[in-house]
Amino acid sequence: RTVYVNGQYLPETEATVSIFDRGFLMADGVYEVTSVLDGKLIDFAGHLRRLQRSLDELEMKNPLSEDEWLAVHRELVARNGVEEGMVYLQVTRGNPGDRDFAWAADVAPTVVLFTQTKPGLADNPQARTGIRVISVPDIRWGRRDIKTVQLLYPSMGKMMAKKAGVDDAWFTEDGFVTEGTSNNVYIIRGNRIVTRPLSSEILHGITRSAVLRFAAEAQYEVEERAFTVEEAQGADEAFLTSASAFVMPVVELDGAAIGTGKPGPVATRLREIYLDEMRKAAV
Ligand code: PLP
Repeated sequence: RTVYVNGQYLPETEATVSIFDRGFLMADGVYEVTSVLDGKLIDFAGHLRRLQRSLDELEMKNPLSEDEWLAVHRELVARNGVEEGMVYLQVTRGNPGDRDFAWAADVAPTVVLFTQTKPGLADNPQARTGIRVISVPDIRWGRRDIKTVQLLYPSMGKMMAKKAGVDDAWFTEDGFVTEGTSNNVYIIRGNRIVTRPLSSEILHGITRSAVLRFAAEAQYEVEERAFTVEEAQGADEAFLTSASAFVMPVVELDGAAIGTGKPGPVATRLREIYLDEMRKAAV
């Protein structure tokens, strides 16, 4: 696989970064994941907008222009022959030369990109059965709206789910569901889709924003408010969204079946609309 590090395209075995990089020592960095379908980038503009916001919040300069980001993404997709998969991009604050909590403004950031080939990303068999989740306490930090590489607790959440024999975990805080380990979450009652409003408590999902727009266009009601585990267990349907799962039906929460225990019509339809529309708009 060819990867990108600080302006160079290299075989993955030859790509290196400094042990003093603040990304490595302090999780001081941000990332984005863009899906590739038919060799093209899904909602690329959305991911670049959020990258800029994450960098601004951490007082980091954007090391590349929008055209440069697009060129690097396309070059890696082409060199690695990715038809279906993901491009991962990461910007960390770089190597200040020594370990120190305070950072200097003039350190050059470290830019790393690589691709992952994932055949069956769109035609995912899990979308036909739905996935099962457990709830776990949300003990992450208070700026979850910044897409940082600080992913230890989400990884622990995923491991708790694995140990419980299910697919993923939903975080809860003060009695309400915040989001999934790596996705935004929704419940459906009749014609109404309920999801938590944007705040610093959740990541502002790029997929969320597109799906809510398509849902409104398809005449569903969208209500942005927090919901509890009990309300989700009693809902007609539930689903999650992320750049790589798209729209994924959730059919069980903490051992209780949601609705019929099978993917429902609304989540199934939203997945189809999302994939159709986003493939058309892909770059
Ligand atoms: N919430 C969290 C915590 C995430 O890590 C992610 C994606 O990685 C999402 C939500 C979904 O965001 P997006 O739709 O932009 O992939």
